[in-house]
Amino acid sequence: MIGTPTDGTNLEPAIIDEWVLRYEGFDPASERLREALCTLGNGYFASRGAAPEAIADQIHYPGTYVAGLYNRLVTRIADRAVENESIVNLPNWLSFSFQIDDANWFDTGDTEILDYGQELNLREATLTRSLRMQDTMGRVTRVEQRRFVSMADPHVAGLVTSFRAENWSGSLTVRSGIDGRVSNAGVARYSQFDEDHLVDMKTCTMNGAVGLTASTSQSAVCVAEVASLRVFRDGSQVHPHLDVIEEPGFIAHQVTIDVEALETIAVEKIATLFTSRDRSISDPLAEAGSWNSRQGAFSVLLDAHIREWDSLWKRFFLEVEGDGRTTRLAVNLHIFHLLQTTSGNTVDLDVGVPARGLHGEAYRGHVFWDELFIIPYLSLHLPELVRSLLLYRYRRLPEARWAAHEAGFRGAMYPWQSGSNGREEAQVVHLNPLSGRWLPDSSHLQRHINVAIAYNVWQYYLMTGDNEFLANYGAEMILEISRFWASIARFNPALDRYEITGVMGPDEYHDGYVGAAMPGLDNNAYTNVMAVWVLCRGLEVVDLLPEPRRSELFTRLSLDAQELEHWDDVSRKMRVVFHEDGVISQFEGYEELAELDWGAYLDRYGDISRLDRILEDEGDTPNAYKASKQADVLMLFYLLSTEALGPIFERLGYAFDPDTIPRAIEYYLQRTSHGSTLSRVVHSWVLARSNRQRSWEFFEDVLRSDLEDIQGGTTAEGIHLGAMAGSVDLVQRCYLGIETSNDAIWFNPVLPAEIRSLSLDICYRQHWLHLTVADGRFTVELIDSSGGVQVGLDGDVVELSPGDRRQLLL
Ligand code: BGC
Repeated sequence: MIGTPTDGTNLEPAIIDEWVLRYEGFDPASERLREALCTLGNGYFASRGAAPEAIADQIHYPGTYVAGLYNRLVTRIADRAVENESIVNLPNWLSFSFQIDDANWFDTGDTEILDYGQELNLREATLTRSLRMQDTMGRVTRVEQRRFVSMADPHVAGLVTSFRAENWSGSLTVRSGIDGRVSNAGVARYSQFDEDHLVDMKTCTMNGAVGLTASTSQSAVCVAEVASLRVFRDGSQVHPHLDVIEEPGFIAHQVTIDVEALETIAVEKIATLFTSRDRSISDPLAEAGSWNSRQGAFSVLLDAHIREWDSLWKRFFLEVEGDGRTTRLAVNLHIFHLLQTTSGNTVDLDVGVPARGLHGEAYRGHVFWDELFIIPYLSLHLPELVRSLLLYRYRRLPEARWAAHEAGFRGAMYPWQSGSNGREEAQVVHLNPLSGRWLPDSSHLQRHINVAIAYNVWQYYLMTGDNEFLANYGAEMILEISRFWASIARFNPALDRYEITGVMGPDEYHDGYVGAAMPGLDNNAYTNVMAVWVLCRGLEVVDLLPEPRRSELFTRLSLDAQELEHWDDVSRKMRVVFHEDGVISQFEGYEELAELDWGAYLDRYGDISRLDRILEDEGDTPNAYKASKQADVLMLFYLLSTEALGPIFERLGYAFDPDTIPRAIEYYLQRTSHGSTLSRVVHSWVLARSNRQRSWEFFEDVLRSDLEDIQGGTTAEGIHLGAMAGSVDLVQRCYLGIETSNDAIWFNPVLPAEIRSLSLDICYRQHWLHLTVADGRFTVELIDSSGGVQVGLDGDVVELSPGDRRQLLL
């Protein structure tokens, strides 16, 4: 029987080395967290690390998700019809159980487990579960299960189970199939919504394999999964008769094998998965069937998978020497989960990066501004992937134009949460689990998402020099977003300034003024300053565009010199509100809000990261307080260096004293609860050079975010990809001081004391550079390139030819 072990087993993951995360024992309470962290995926689909015999219950939650596969359902809730679009939990291809003689089917809940361990190998991207069990008849069996979701062939996954009868002879019955009796039930807060997305479920057999098809109820995407089975006795394949068991929504092979004591029986399950969204297919079932029958042995498929990961790891290798294995493991784990969500296999898909990975159902698989923390990192390693992720946004430009038009603006207004077609998918009501109340949700007012998209396009352009992308896609997005900012900004003649009103900044605790009839805040500094930044890029892009592309775009967008003059004017007269002492105000009126008694709340609640829920439960509101969920003003210093920010303030006619930056950081640091994992990334970044100790503490927290689920239960519903990618980007761009401009890539490394050395490769404008910091020296070497590259070091730009290296004493 497994419960919380009483034998002193350590339930925390053990870090075997920087590539292996090991869990000893079984802990029902943390099983869903393990499932999320042990998810395997390949950028096309992913499956949570659920036990193969498990079905969704209080402890387990199997989940399989295909990138970009969404469905909409309407539920009556809080007196209105609410339509939500969700990434769909698909039939469970892992489904596998066994029975010894006529004992019960294996269930960790009613079997005596002698040993239990689970190992996630990051280098090979495999999950292995080993257990020894003893049944009521005293029969001891060792079971080992290993699985992969192939990086080499995105439609293939495999699970091998080996059984060793330690002290018995008898029969072993195995049932291995596809379980379509699934729904989206992974997030308790969403339980009042209708979450049955699959209809028309059909089962079949083909070429000796079992198959299941289903369609999503509204988006009408057909999904087909096919599974085959091979049995081996002491390494040699045997061919026992396979029965087929069918129940509504379920189909499986069932096979009974005679086992002698000390024999090993291995059962290989190979699954294939296709959907009607795939390209170059006939129909999904035909494809899954024929593809399945072509697959070789588990070991052959696994080899190909590992080789593919080897190549990926070479591209993304990041070696950090320092304070022990935890940092290295966490860094690897973060890169690993990022690549499982979005990889080379994603390049040909029409998808963005879901904020919570393909690891669970939190935020319904939607794409947020979190890409801002992901795309710059990926751009220096897998630029073709970033191009594809940006094209996801480009294809949704018409929808964003429509949204702007509907709201009375011009240009393109991208949605805060994006799914299938780019309409706004942010929820209109959300549940406060503390108070049990459904509350209106204004988060769609985070118009700053448009900054993130333009910023990502620009970063991609700077890092890759992809002029073709800029001319054909990127420019149009930047111009339409510029146009949106220029039109949402309204001129206030009394102040001779433009203002942006009725929006929300990144800090989601503040969505309006207390007592106001309408939600929204005025002159959010992050939004206003970054809108100016976007407008400047808009004007710059016009100059960069070659003819005839410039004229073509001007014609298509009906853009003229007069409109550009207006953009210029807005970019010089945007309003930024300051506190009396010169600190940038998060928004107009922030300074007048009450101070929160942080100590009292900490004493009373311990964890106050979701202060918004606590205050609402108390009948109060965070809108009344100087209390932020996450970095808001500080986002400015995260995205823009002092050298970039200074000219913007000058352009606006505001005095800019770099000294206000540390003051602002200190001010908001004291008033932020870090209710979003993104907040610690930003704080670690902005403090990296001024307060290295505090910065390191934030960095360590970011590394622990998901590994230790520091937000108390959120990781089980999906990892936090923005924080994961943000942490490795901190090591890369922040610690190495990487800045890209039109003529060079600049380095200005400063490592935290805790990191002894650092080594990685980056791809800048098709040049592969090897970078190391060790023994007080920074070295940059051009390792692979067809020409020279301009590198900025210590104030000078030098040209490196292939094989050249330069050093900088730190
Ligand atoms: C954060 C947002 C973020 C979202 C998705 C929220 O909790 O406040 O900034 O985009 O989670 O990760």
